[in-house]
Amino acid sequence: MSDAFNADLHCHSLVSDGTLAPATLARRARDNGVQLWALTDHDELGGLREAASACAEIGLRFVPGVEVSVSVDDQTVHVVGLGVDATHAGLLRELQRMCSGRDARARRMAQSLREHTGVDDAYEGACRMAGNPALISRTHFARHLVERGVCSSTAEVFSRYLTPGKPGYVEHAWASLEQAVQWIHDAGGLAVLAHPGRYRFTEAREREMLGRFRDLGGEGIEVITASHSAADWRKYAGIAREFGLRASRGSDFHCPRESRCDLGRLPALPEGLAPIWDLLH
Ligand code: AMP
Ligand code: MN
Ligand code: MN
Ligand code: MN
Repeated sequence: MSDAFNADLHCHSLVSDGTLAPATLARRARDNGVQLWALTDHDELGGLREAASACAEIGLRFVPGVEVSVSVDDQTVHVVGLGVDATHAGLLRELQRMCSGRDARARRMAQSLREHTGVDDAYEGACRMAGNPALISRTHFARHLVERGVCSSTAEVFSRYLTPGKPGYVEHAWASLEQAVQWIHDAGGLAVLAHPGRYRFTEAREREMLGRFRDLGGEGIEVITASHSAADWRKYAGIAREFGLRASRGSDFHCPRESRCDLGRLPALPEGLAPIWDLLH
């Protein structure tokens, strides 16, 4: 990282599918040299107050964030909101409404996992793993199946059971791209397309989605994230320039043992990009 500005604008606490408390993450970010930090739990604002007060105590610049789940075609896309008002009634209501389907989805996942793995307490196990009963995610199932010895890592559970086409995967209708950008803007935030290199669009569909996101007023795109290869950094640096999007950087840190990249331990943004954090004051 040398002397480049160390912004880390994407990570998760136990309010969604991370394993650490917001205040613990704040201290870890500071200890790792992060200078500007965002907590971006999935579809949840519940950890932002604790994170903000921990940051005030330790003198770390904080950006309240969220990562909104979105359905585009048959894929799940994530849009990060940065600088959102953590008490915004509209955003809270919409996120709550969207997440109300998570419990029924989790029960269906558990049923299917019972048939395919023999584990008969997947729902209860995932609930036990979850720090927030309103947010049971695939990650909590993955952790439970590792504990039960079905697989040796959460990554293996995802590739064998929890990704599209696999037996424990259950389709879910998340927000539309329009809704996600609108909710984030209404709450005063900037919309950033998360880890674009993870999606499985054809080149043409990807460009269409990027154009739509930009035309909706989306401000940024993650260029440097743990999900990206060096080739992805180059590709999305070019896309950011071409589509006139600001560039973001975030570890997507979830858990010390599982995550590939710790808070703040990422390469600098490539030269010549306009960083999203110039708009965050
Ligand atoms: P959900 O919101 O329940 O669909 O869960 C999505 C979360 O699962 C993501 O935010 C990641 O943390 C995790 N995830 C998704 N795909 C994978 C994968 N292939 N390997 C590991 N974790 C994954
Ligand atoms: Mn996650
Ligand atoms: Mn994501
Ligand atoms: Mn994330």
